[in-house]
Amino acid sequence: MGAQGKAFLIHFEGGRSLYAHMQLYGRWMFGKPGQEPKTNRQLRLSLSTAEQEARLYSATDIEILTAAGLKKHPYLSRLGPDLLDPGTKQSDLFERLRDKKFSGRRLAALLLDQTFWAGPGNYLRSEILFCAGLTPEMRPRDLDENQARRLVEAAQGLARRSLKTKGITTPPDLVTKAKKAGQTRRWYRHWVFNRLGRPCWVCETPIRKEEWGGRRLYRCLDCQGGGTWEMNFADLE
Ligand SMILES: [Zn+2]
Repeated sequence: MGAQGKAFLIHFEGGRSLYAHMQLYGRWMFGKPGQEPKTNRQLRLSLSTAEQEARLYSATDIEILTAAGLKKHPYLSRLGPDLLDPGTKQSDLFERLRDKKFSGRRLAALLLDQTFWAGPGNYLRSEILFCAGLTPEMRPRDLDENQARRLVEAAQGLARRSLKTKGITTPPDLVTKAKKAGQTRRWYRHWVFNRLGRPCWVCETPIRKEEWGGRRLYRCLDCQGGGTWEMNFADLE
């Protein structure tokens, strides 16, 4: 089973796959088999074992596809490499970054575009840019080799870390220290996201909040664009 953007796939033996796109309104509910929850939503898909049933409501885009159909699928075939898919290689991410189609667009827009890299949501956009030391204004064609490498490493590293930690993007040593000091999860969870006015973990400059593409973006003006610090993802190895 894999999650690709806002869709998910279950591959069956014999080459068929179940595809479902959540749209904005799809919702999973869990319970005992045969006991429908009280809801006005329409049941679209249900998967059950002897003890549990997972029901998907309201999602409208559900299909059973053959291998050939999967390749030609209009949503899946346009998606970029998935940051969370263990099969995604750094070279796949670089290839996208070097693609002419994307070279003139700002990183702030690309990091929310599932046809560029699939997977990152809004908080990861701010976190990736911060950890790569890059600004939202930059475009792939502005990046030198080193900056491109940092972007790819930060994106994959942060996506993996946040999957492992259920959404925490800061490194384990920072988290341990903050917990010891009695801080809440909200306090230590991210590098910059949701930290307006708080001191940057690296340089203590107050974090700024901006809007890009109608979504919140947080940044440190000192560390991003000019800063020289390097991210360490040793905890993921
Ligand atoms: Zn900083």
